[in-house]
Amino acid sequence: MKYRWIFVLSIAAALVLAIAASGVEPERNRYHQHLEAAEKLPCTNHDGSVFCTHLPLMEITTDGPVPSPYIQNSTPDPNDIWAVSNKARSYDMVAATVRYFDSETENNHLSDIPIVEERAMFRIRGASSRSLDKKNYLLKFTEEDMVHSLDVSLSGMTADNSWALHGPFLDKSLIRNYMCYNLAGEIMDYAPNVRFCELFVNGEYMGLYLLTEKISFNENGRIDFTKTDPKLTVTSYILQADRGANDPSHDLETFGSNSYLTRPKEHAGHGHIEILYPGKSLSQAQRDYIASDFSRFEKAIFSFDYNHPDRGYQHYIDTKSFIDFFLINEFTLNYDAPGLSTYLYKDVGGKLKMCVWDFDAAFDYYKYSEVTPETFRIHNALWFKYLFKDEAFVDQVVDRYAYLRKRFLNEEYLFQYIDDTVSYLGPAIARNYAKWGYSFNSRYNGVNYDYLEPESRNVRSFDEAIQQVKDTIAMRLDHMDNNLDRLYTLCHESMNKRYNHVTEEGGS
Ligand SMILES: [Zn+2]
Repeated sequence: MKYRWIFVLSIAAALVLAIAASGVEPERNRYHQHLEAAEKLPCTNHDGSVFCTHLPLMEITTDGPVPSPYIQNSTPDPNDIWAVSNKARSYDMVAATVRYFDSETENNHLSDIPIVEERAMFRIRGASSRSLDKKNYLLKFTEEDMVHSLDVSLSGMTADNSWALHGPFLDKSLIRNYMCYNLAGEIMDYAPNVRFCELFVNGEYMGLYLLTEKISFNENGRIDFTKTDPKLTVTSYILQADRGANDPSHDLETFGSNSYLTRPKEHAGHGHIEILYPGKSLSQAQRDYIASDFSRFEKAIFSFDYNHPDRGYQHYIDTKSFIDFFLINEFTLNYDAPGLSTYLYKDVGGKLKMCVWDFDAAFDYYKYSEVTPETFRIHNALWFKYLFKDEAFVDQVVDRYAYLRKRFLNEEYLFQYIDDTVSYLGPAIARNYAKWGYSFNSRYNGVNYDYLEPESRNVRSFDEAIQQVKDTIAMRLDHMDNNLDRLYTLCHESMNKRYNHVTEEGGS
C-alpha cells in the first residue's frame, strides 16, 4: 500500500515537472464580463421613463462642486493641451457618496437598494484626457471620517479603496481599454481587472464607463508582493514612468535618467520615474534603496556585460514580462507606452516586472498623427533599446509572438471578442451616444470634435469606429507576421564587448 502511494506521488511530481518544463501557461481565470455576466430578464414593472440598465450602475453624489481640471487661479489656454495636462494637474478631491447597483439577476435602477453605499473622495483624473467633455475620474473609498481608507469590492473584483473610472470619449469604439486589459490579463501575471458600468454624477447621466483597478499593491488580487515595512530599508516597490510626480519626494533619480539614457533631452517631458509604492509611508532610506536597486538594473543593461547570464539584464528583470509588455503595446500600436503610463514593480528578492496601462490611443488613435501599422516603435525606447541588442532576447520575442498568434493575437479570436462585447453592451451604447453622440460631428456648438489629425481619420459612427479597430488589427497582424524578424537587425555587440570577451576567453 505504502509503495502504491509513493508510485502515485512520483507520477504526480513528474507530471508537474513536465508541465513546468513544457512552458504551458498557467490557468489565469481572467473574468471577462461580457462572457460571464448573467443575462437579465426585461423589466415588466416600469415604463421606459425609468433609467434601467443590465450593466452595473454607479451613482456618485458629491458634497460640493467637482474641482475643475484646471489649476485654481490660472487661466490656461484651452487649446494648449500641455498647459492643461502638465501645469494644471489638479489633485484636489471632493467628498462624495457612492451608491453601486449590481443585481445578479435583474436590471439595475437608481431606485433599487444599492449593493454598496459608501463615502469616498472623488476627483477628475488623467492627463490630456482632462480637456475632453467626458472626464475620467478617481475614487478613493473612505470610512465615514473621510480620512481612513476603506476597501470595497465592486462586481466581484478584489476589495480595494482606490478605483479609476475611465469614460471612453476619444475612443468611439468604447472597447479599447476593456479588450486590451483583458487580453493583457490573459497573458501577463497581472493586468488591471475591469467592468463596464453606467454612471451618474450629481444626478446627471454620464454614459458608459469602465471601472478599472488602479495599479496598486493588494495581496488579494492586484499586485501581490511583500508588504512594505517602513522600519526596513529594503522594500518591494511599484514605479511609474510618466510626466513626473505630483509629489516631488516620490520622483526618482536613476542612473538611466541622470545619464539621459532613458530620458533623452528631446523628450524631456516623458520617462520621469515616480515611486507609487510604498506610498505615504515611503522613508528616505527606502527611496535611496529603490533608486540604487533600479539603477543596478540600468547599469547592467547599459554595460558591455548587458546580457551576461549572471551580471546582465536577465539577473534583474522578468524577461517574459518585458516581452509581453512589448508585444501587447506593439500589437495595439499603443505609443503612449513606454515613456508614458508605464508601470514596473518588484518584490523583495524578486525581479522587475512590467504592467500595462491605458489603451486609449491604441489601434491608431494617437491624436496628433496617424500611426501606420507598418512600424515598430517601442524597441527604441527606454530599456528596450538595449534589450534588443541581445539576439537571445529577440529570439524569445519572435517565439512568444508565434505562441500568442495562435491563441489570442488572431483575427478570429479578436473579432469574435469585439462582436461579443458589442452585443453584451447592447442598449447601453445608444444611451451613451444619446449623451455624447455629438462628438461624431466635426463641429458642434462651435467646438471642433475632430481630435484626430488629419481630419480624415475621425470616424462618424459607432459602427465605423468598430470597423476601424478591426481593420487596424488585421493590418497590424499582417505587418507583424512579415516583419517581426526585422528586429534582428537591431542585435549587435560593440567592438568593446567583443574584444573584452575574446580576451576573457583566452584570446582565441
Ligand atoms: Zn428596469
